[in-house]
Amino acid sequence: MQDQKILIAERSNEFSHETAKANLCEEYSDSDEPPSLSAFAETSELTYSPLLDTSFEILKEKCPARATSSPKTTIFRKNHYPHISRETWNDWKWQLQNRITNVEELSLILRLSEDEETVLRKAHHIFPFSITPYYASLLDIDDPAHPLRRTVIPSGAELVKSEGESDDPLDEENDSPVPGLVHRYPDRVLFLTTDFCSNYCRYCTRSRMVGRSSCSAFSKKNWEMSIAYIESHPEIRDVLLSGGDPLTLSDESLEWLLSSLRKISHIEIIRIGSKVPVVLPQRITSKLVKILKRYHPVWMNIHFTHPDEVTPEVEIACRKLSNAGIPLGSQTVLLKGINDDVEILRSLYHQLLKNRVRPYYLYQCDPISGSSHFRTRVEKGIEIIKGLRGFTTGFAVPNFVIDAPGGGGKIPLQPQYFQGVEGNTVMLRNYEDKLFTYPDTCTE
Ligand code: SF4
Repeated sequence: MQDQKILIAERSNEFSHETAKANLCEEYSDSDEPPSLSAFAETSELTYSPLLDTSFEILKEKCPARATSSPKTTIFRKNHYPHISRETWNDWKWQLQNRITNVEELSLILRLSEDEETVLRKAHHIFPFSITPYYASLLDIDDPAHPLRRTVIPSGAELVKSEGESDDPLDEENDSPVPGLVHRYPDRVLFLTTDFCSNYCRYCTRSRMVGRSSCSAFSKKNWEMSIAYIESHPEIRDVLLSGGDPLTLSDESLEWLLSSLRKISHIEIIRIGSKVPVVLPQRITSKLVKILKRYHPVWMNIHFTHPDEVTPEVEIACRKLSNAGIPLGSQTVLLKGINDDVEILRSLYHQLLKNRVRPYYLYQCDPISGSSHFRTRVEKGIEIIKGLRGFTTGFAVPNFVIDAPGGGGKIPLQPQYFQGVEGNTVMLRNYEDKLFTYPDTCTE
């Protein structure tokens, strides 16, 4: 805490522009330095400009090994953490220890709107708030409507509970034979390993439990009870580790969990659901991937929201995971004004495919209390799938699903391609809205 206070004081009072500028020159200095980055470093203002991204793309092509952090993030680090080295910044434990968790710290980084500031001051005990310095570097300083900013900075709209919303819309508590374990589907379980996340998404389905240190479901004793339950149910062949975010656990805890599950002979696959590769990519260390590799088959679904999240840091994290033989998928919540647009999602999905991440689920936003400002109409999701299917690689088209309130599970929704049957003829509509028929003449 004392260190944190010192850091805030340093950030607010002792920021030296000259030091930061010199550090920035050093960051990109050698013969591969793109010319406009040199020019930038000689100016008196250390402000981000999208033009720098063009230079960075050249650096990426010429010397990919050095293109490990975008100009935006580098400038942010130099401006707000001038005494923090690149090595320290890239230490995931430092990122966790220095999460931004209150209005005082946040207002050193963003110009907060009145609404944001009021909620952060008055309702912080209701809605846990936290972001990593790395993720803060991606946010727009001035614009409260900035897509990534809206996903992590609280707003007054969260205080409004609308019709049909509830704290546990998926009724997970009712399908929990043991605290922290959800057994809804016949052959698989959801293992909620922790209530901790490095960032708290404002639309989180489990906002009833994440970030509440009072939540008792995540003790070692409960893990043991969950493992005993899984052991005694031979029909369970698939365990999904989620939370909170399981990749915020220590290497030792993760290894304990994975090895305990691997000892159970009927467990065929282990899946991990995480947003860490996006909000804390530094966590994907060589040591972590070595651990994960030991317990194959391990699959991972990564929570992406917007193409701006696919940074050099995230690309490196995905590459490490893929190279460790972990098949990667993505899951994305459809959010009003953030990603409810064909072009935005197409851009995200194309970037994911380039990074060997297969778009897997697009979720209709769950009706969690205080989430109406994030929810689109269901038709919007179907319209987006229609705008993707046929117009781009099939791998880039996720399943659009509603997780049915009350515990009905995931229900896929599709545009209406099947138009009916006439005798032995199936009527079909293709992606261009043209009608076709299929002779369904196979005899039984
Ligand atoms: S990372 Fe997942 S569990 Fe954590 S707050 Fe975001 S949506 Fe919720």
